[in-house]
Amino acid sequence: MTFPHNLFRPDLLKEAAFIDGLWVEGAAKISVTNPADGSVLGTVPNLGAEETKRAITSACQAQGEWRKLAAKARGTILRRWGELMLAHQEDLATILTLEQGKPFTEAKGEVIYAASFLEWFAEEARRINGELIQPHASDRRLAVRKEPVGVVAAVTPWNFPLAMITRKAGPALAAGCSLVLKPSELTPFSALALAVLAEEAGVPAGIFNVLTGDAAPIGEVMTTDPRVRKFTFTGSTGVGKMLAAQCMSTVKRVSLELGGNAPFIVFDDADIESAVEGALMSKFRNTGQTCVCANRFLVQDGIFDVFSRRLAERVSQFVVGAGMSGPTDQGPLIDGRAVAKASVHVDDAVARGARILTGGYAIKGEGNFFLPTVLADVPAEALLCKEETFGPIAGLVRFISEGEAIEMANDTPAGLASYVYTRDLDRSIRVSESLEYGMVGLNTGLISTEVAPFGGVKESGLGREGSHWGIDDYIELKVVCTGVN
Ligand code: NAD
Repeated sequence: MTFPHNLFRPDLLKEAAFIDGLWVEGAAKISVTNPADGSVLGTVPNLGAEETKRAITSACQAQGEWRKLAAKARGTILRRWGELMLAHQEDLATILTLEQGKPFTEAKGEVIYAASFLEWFAEEARRINGELIQPHASDRRLAVRKEPVGVVAAVTPWNFPLAMITRKAGPALAAGCSLVLKPSELTPFSALALAVLAEEAGVPAGIFNVLTGDAAPIGEVMTTDPRVRKFTFTGSTGVGKMLAAQCMSTVKRVSLELGGNAPFIVFDDADIESAVEGALMSKFRNTGQTCVCANRFLVQDGIFDVFSRRLAERVSQFVVGAGMSGPTDQGPLIDGRAVAKASVHVDDAVARGARILTGGYAIKGEGNFFLPTVLADVPAEALLCKEETFGPIAGLVRFISEGEAIEMANDTPAGLASYVYTRDLDRSIRVSESLEYGMVGLNTGLISTEVAPFGGVKESGLGREGSHWGIDDYIELKVVCTGVN
């Protein structure tokens, strides 16, 4: 392995998959590259259907004992896992930045965010309570038990290589399920480092398995093997729909966290400095590669010019560079395809009459860098407004009335996150109630926390992650109806 940075714990770097508590090598390998310079960081095994079945077998066998453990004992192990993540924050962030690209300070933030799901669900484990309900007849008693769904298969994306895993592993393990995970092939080292720490925390063999390799055959087994009782996916809408359809042959429980097309609405009465600050957070975190990223800025006519000027000023001051090299605000995009998509979206908007206020093109040279960009007067028909851009491009659309803004905001099949800036109390209530989204940020650009339900409506997904509701997706209800003489 040619990893370019020393770690305090070099053993966190694994070039093997993790099945049934064992590190598994494979003949064929997948290279993992650093998006900041294209260099190869290392390789992981290119596993397929056979290893996936093996992982499911081990998850089935291990689950019997795990579900019988007292909830408190499962919680203690989860808490320890989260604490180990925090203890190794620097190493985990280094691995994350090198394979994913985000600035090191953001990567350290992701470690804390990811660990928070383990801490939260360690506590929730003890609150999975059933109910005694009023019986329908005097000679009956009704008890409702909450039981783990069983073996869970999970597929996660590259944009949050740690947090998207713990947001699933936390509630699954807390509920008494076992997990077979396939992380993105672009960012497997973070997932494998998590497996090292899981083992160290006392997660038994077979309860947390990590497969690396060929997405299609692994996904096919995960979605069709009858022993898997739940499939949970975070990623793009197209892949999520396809895998969800595959799950129906064995009627699995399905959770989907898919793409968004977040509107960021700024009304004339907004506090401009705070709206600009929120826009920078929401749009440019992770170089525009978050599912809750503002994708379209809808800005009211009276404030449009001053807001766009101020935003462009701030964006033009961003430091762009490799995540590990000093104080960087914007890292590289994940790959060449992401850079090409950003270029297409800018060119399309400009061809439709948009004006470039700053940025607007890919940076030549090594790495997948695109200049942070602000475009004014983007028409609502532009690709920027219709598709998830997943890059550092803020496209500003002008609107006149509140009704027009709501209509434009809801004119999309997506329904994940939305943002509103206004100082008018009545308007804030009217607009947040009218938005067809799972999440609304009102005068804030940062909405993600382990304590609140995260998820979307319409084609952005099914189910919620985080919060006390997050455990429900990993629980089956069983009623015990007792006849009493
Ligand atoms: P992607 O759909 O390309 O990949 C996601 C995962 O699916 C990866 O692990 C990939 O290997 C796997 N995959 C791809 N094809 C597969 C197949 N045929 N069978 C099995 N697995 C397969 O998405 P991405 O580019 O990694 O992630 C970006 C997307 O994820 C964006 O659309 C973003 O909005 C979304 N996302 C959503 C949330 C949310 O909570 N709603 C969070 C993060 C990212």
